[in-house]
Amino acid sequence: MSRNRIIGKLEIMFTDSHAHLTCDPVFDELEGILKRAKEKKVDRIFNICTDKISLERGLELTKKEKWIHNIGATTPHDVEKEGGLYFPLFEMAAKQGQLVAIGETGLDYHYEHSPKELQKTFLSRYFSLAEECLLPVVIHCRDAFDDLYMIAEESFPKGQAVLHCFTGTMKEAEVALERDWMISFSGIITFKRSEILREVVKETPLNHILIETDTPYLAPQSMRGKTNEPSFIDETAQTIANVKGIPLDEVAEITSKNAQRFFNL
Ligand SMILES: [Zn+2]
Repeated sequence: MSRNRIIGKLEIMFTDSHAHLTCDPVFDELEGILKRAKEKKVDRIFNICTDKISLERGLELTKKEKWIHNIGATTPHDVEKEGGLYFPLFEMAAKQGQLVAIGETGLDYHYEHSPKELQKTFLSRYFSLAEECLLPVVIHCRDAFDDLYMIAEESFPKGQAVLHCFTGTMKEAEVALERDWMISFSGIITFKRSEILREVVKETPLNHILIETDTPYLAPQSMRGKTNEPSFIDETAQTIANVKGIPLDEVAEITSKNAQRFFNL
C-alpha cells in the first residue's frame, strides 16, 4: 500500500516539531513549502529561530499562521560569534510569551565551532531562562552527553527538554528518559545505514517520541540530495511505524499529542 493511500484513508495529521522555516534560503520559498505541508496533512510546525532575522521573521509569521509556533536561542555552533549579542532578544521574546520553548541550545563537541566552555555557559544561561519562564528546552547534543546531563542537573533539575535529531546510543537515550525528557527523531532514521539508530527507535516508548524534519537539513532517504521540508515528515513517521510494527496513523496521532503536551499548547 502506498503512503498516500494510507494518508488519504485515515485523515492523519502530522506535527513537525523542529524546522528552520525563517532562515535563509528556506524563507524565500516559504509559501510553497507551507502549501505542500498542508497538502501532506502537516497541521503544526515548530519553527526554530537562531538569530535576529529568523526571530523577527518568525514573530511576524506566527501572527497570521496560527499553526506555526516559535522557539528561539543561539545554536551551540554560533555562541562564540553571536551568543552574547542575541541572548537579550531571545530573553525578551521568551518573557513576553512569544516563544513556546527555548532552543536549539546545547553542546556540539563533534564540530566544536565554538569553544566548549562557552557552549556550556550559554546552555546554562538558556536553562536558567527556560526555568524562569516555565518553558521547555530544545537541545542539540553531539558527542557531549556527559556534560549535558551534568549541566542539566545543576541548572535545570526538574525542567522539561527534548533531545532534537537524536543520533546517540540507547544508553544516552535512557538517561533522558529517566529525566522524563523527550527524544525527537529526524529523517536520519530513514537512512539505509541507520540500523543501530532504528534499534533506539524501537526501544524508546512512543509516548516519549517527537518527530521532526530539521528543515532544510537531513532530507529522508527517498528525498536525499533535496532540500528538506515539513511535507517530507511522513517518511520518518512511516519508519517509526515499521520499526515498532504499529499503524502510521497511531504514530502520527501520538507524536502530535506528545508535541502538544510537551510544548504546553
Ligand atoms: Zn535544527
